[in-house]
Amino acid sequence: MKGVRWIVTVTVFGTLLYPGVLSGRSGDDNVIQAFVIPHSHMDVGWVYTVEESMHAYAANVYTTIVEELVKKKHRKFIAVEQEFFRLWWDKVVTDEQKQQVHQLLKEGRLEFIIGGQVMHDEAVTELSSQILQLTEGHGFLYETFGKRPQFSWHVDPFGASATTPTVFALAGFNAHLISRIDYDEKDMMQKNKKLQFVWQGSPSLAEQQQIFTHTMDQYSYCVPASLPFSNRSGFFWNGIAVFPDPPKDGIYPNMSLPVTSQTIRAYAETMVANIKQRAAWFKSNHVLWPWGCDKQFFNASMQFENMDPLMDYVNQHRREFGVTVQYATLSEYFQAVHNANLTWDTRKSRDFLPYSSEPFQAWSGFYASRNILKGMARGANSFLYACESLFTLYLLRYPLGSIDKLWALEKIQHLRWAVSEVQHHDGVTGTESPKVRDMYMDHLLRGMSAVKLLMAAILQEALNGGKNKLDDPLPYSQDTRNREDDSLQITVYNPLGWNITTVINVTVAYSMVNVYDGLGNAVPSQIQKSAGSNSTFDLFVLVRLDALGYHRYIVKTKNSTCTKGRDGQCSEGQTSYRGRVITFNRKLVRKLRNQGGRLLRLMNECYFLTFDEDTNLLHSITDRSSQKTIKIQQEFLEYHANGDIRKGPISDNYVFTANGPAVSVSKSIGMELVKGNLVTEIRQYFYSNNSAMANNYEYAIFTRMYNVPKGYDGSLLCRRVEQEYMVGPLDLNREAILRMTTDLKTDRTIFTDGNGYQMMKRQYKNYSYNTLARNYYPLVRTAYIEENGTRLIILSDRAHGISSQADGQIEMMLHRRLWNNKEWNLAYNLTLNDTSVVRPLFWLMFGSKSTTSSLYQSGMALEFRPVVAFGPTSGNVALVQSNKMHGETAANSFSLPSNLHLLTLSVPGWQYNSNHTKHLEDITRVQGKQSQPNFRRVLLRILHLYEVGEDPVLSQPVRVNLKDLLKPLGTVASVEERSLTGIWNINTLQRWKWRTSQQHDMEFNKATRRLNEEFRVTIHPKELRTFFVYFKQ
Ligand SMILES: [Zn+2]
Repeated sequence: MKGVRWIVTVTVFGTLLYPGVLSGRSGDDNVIQAFVIPHSHMDVGWVYTVEESMHAYAANVYTTIVEELVKKKHRKFIAVEQEFFRLWWDKVVTDEQKQQVHQLLKEGRLEFIIGGQVMHDEAVTELSSQILQLTEGHGFLYETFGKRPQFSWHVDPFGASATTPTVFALAGFNAHLISRIDYDEKDMMQKNKKLQFVWQGSPSLAEQQQIFTHTMDQYSYCVPASLPFSNRSGFFWNGIAVFPDPPKDGIYPNMSLPVTSQTIRAYAETMVANIKQRAAWFKSNHVLWPWGCDKQFFNASMQFENMDPLMDYVNQHRREFGVTVQYATLSEYFQAVHNANLTWDTRKSRDFLPYSSEPFQAWSGFYASRNILKGMARGANSFLYACESLFTLYLLRYPLGSIDKLWALEKIQHLRWAVSEVQHHDGVTGTESPKVRDMYMDHLLRGMSAVKLLMAAILQEALNGGKNKLDDPLPYSQDTRNREDDSLQITVYNPLGWNITTVINVTVAYSMVNVYDGLGNAVPSQIQKSAGSNSTFDLFVLVRLDALGYHRYIVKTKNSTCTKGRDGQCSEGQTSYRGRVITFNRKLVRKLRNQGGRLLRLMNECYFLTFDEDTNLLHSITDRSSQKTIKIQQEFLEYHANGDIRKGPISDNYVFTANGPAVSVSKSIGMELVKGNLVTEIRQYFYSNNSAMANNYEYAIFTRMYNVPKGYDGSLLCRRVEQEYMVGPLDLNREAILRMTTDLKTDRTIFTDGNGYQMMKRQYKNYSYNTLARNYYPLVRTAYIEENGTRLIILSDRAHGISSQADGQIEMMLHRRLWNNKEWNLAYNLTLNDTSVVRPLFWLMFGSKSTTSSLYQSGMALEFRPVVAFGPTSGNVALVQSNKMHGETAANSFSLPSNLHLLTLSVPGWQYNSNHTKHLEDITRVQGKQSQPNFRRVLLRILHLYEVGEDPVLSQPVRVNLKDLLKPLGTVASVEERSLTGIWNINTLQRWKWRTSQQHDMEFNKATRRLNEEFRVTIHPKELRTFFVYFKQ
């Protein structure tokens, strides 16, 4: 093993190293060097709410850590999740503590790791939300302290995604750290000293964005929990946090035996033995010894006062023990490993999903836990996405607009915080207690309603050319059923960077309407009786919107008169098409295969869909352009979970343990067909009881095909078969799936997405245990199966579990309701007794690879559907040409090529200078004083949607002139390229290079990658580029 160049560490960090480590280096080459990293794993949610956690322990962590670090110069601490730190910083600290924090950061003794608001889940989160939460935390840290985190500490997410190394590399990180991976694989890696490697998360970005990755050994992020000489827990001198109030006497349960002259030898031997055991699993003689666990260091003096003498003792006996120990931050550990200059294996874009912790503990259940929370987390993120760009447009177009910018930014920040928070690895995962779920949902709902107010205000002003406010407010409402008004205004905003043609759906209380655009022209629309209701109607309206464009539509009931447009025209008498409902006889499920005798054939420009009238089930799909047909059947089944730990492995919030094959749920199936000129809808109702009343079904599928009228671009709209499923409430201990059985030959291989960023090939694997559950993967947005280039694609609006358990088959876990008698689950109320009815939305696409090549664009169109605002009109409604703001024409409207996605267009408001040196000077000068948010800096991110070689045309690099692209928004004055979260100027960012056995030149097309002076940039496959744009005032 190579010696360690300590001197480098001293130079870089300029701090005092532990004297015992520095002295006597010669002859100590074989001495193991343990980096004792004090940390506290603080879940932003899970069992206790954020408020409860702050009160019981989290605030005390930072208060006591600062106090203890100030006392002794060799003590250190890493701060990981930012949400608790920010709450402490904003609400708890004194000015003196603030000064102390600045000083500790300067000395490198307090170090921010990851720097996101939370430690995000890796399996079920979507890329843009991951970036949001990281950006939110980084923005705060950089603005407040000038600090730029460069290391990750993903110690608790349940499995590791291949997207994460790419995201962290793009954020400027030098090393990544993971822990929870499959126990088999970890065991193998540990034995072969392969826990550390260089990860190329994205196949297209490969070496350009590779990152050194450290996998924690079997002890993971906690110190060993037991001591051989005591029945108390190991090295946790402050004991266990107590809820709701910290104990008044300061005595916590399970405080470890103090380190005294009687116990110190036993403690030292235990520590040394553990360090030596771990050293054997790594290539270098550096051991990362995480000192902490969940909710630790709330009484930091107890911790350090015991550890200080223990470490002294070990260092005094280093010749005997062969070990030295020192407090360290994570960067010091990685710096030492990096300095060892070893050669590392490369891992390509394989991920570590799913994760099993033991033979019957496959953590693939949480992919589908709490479907409603998962849906709301995604919905809130897309709502935020829309509001960010709308606010940006508003600031650019109406710099003197009447909306208070600070008020507006505050609304947006509220939602940024809520969406960031729920990305936590016990948040969107659905693995929290019910009260914490309520907390997340409450924060999301409050954030969304704050932003709705803002969007309404912007649209109201913008639709009127930024001058006079409309007489009528523009309320947002999801429910117009009880309105007596005879007309309704609908405003639709398209937040995407492409022009779209789509159909929006609103529920209204009347059956005959006319729909007009802003000029009084009739708009294609259809109205029909809502499923299962006699008093409401679904109104479908075809909308055509430019990128970042909005339209207002007026809905008038049959009896109201048309309002003339500016040109005096009015399309009187053109009412919405009335969809006719045809009801089919309910069919008994005798055999679970299609008869195929009597087929109901439905069609649009893209597909033929057939339903079997003998079973009321879907029978086939034909792609009309490639003339390919698959047989396909869809049915709902349930896995019956075991809830009694005495009878075997259970299923819970986290794990899925199939207790036998899934069982069909339906005894009979009802069907309705709604024929229309714009939408054809099939409604299938699944009954578990033959004599059930018509409305008494537990499962339903609403399938919609769209017919695009002539003169409209229907390429994406016609190509999607929309399916909305209705599931629930479930019986107890049931895990509900939708199974699609096709005649494609797939050998049980399925492609599923990593966080909506990249596709992963999942080949069916056989295991000694638990094979079914271990072949489940997260579906975040996209999945498909294929045979010879013919694909069946699924796009989803929220995360689910997905698997292919048989040839040509896909099953998706949609909903779970579980209860078990495991003491731990009961104690923390983590049993998932979810009685809700869920309604996830999917788009299916089918055809050859070339006819379905728009799958990513369609995926984004599902993710970021137009925002629809509607409310009553009364009195005079101004008719305005609303699609474009102010004299804009289609020729100069913003639009990206179809392989580039507008990932972010926002005004973050960060109060920092883009020049790092100047920013640091400003911090020193104005410390503690608030400056004004920067409303001039626009954050722009563009993502290339395709992999290298995936499509002959769409995979090509795209050259973009940012000045021309952004011209419709304003005249660009300057552009800076930044790191993913904005805190680095890309030209000054030098990430560490790690030697690999297959080293190539990493200067990947650097010349074409950089933004040139003419604002031209070439965006390569899978690149994600971040810019600060400044417009001329
Ligand atoms: Zn955790």
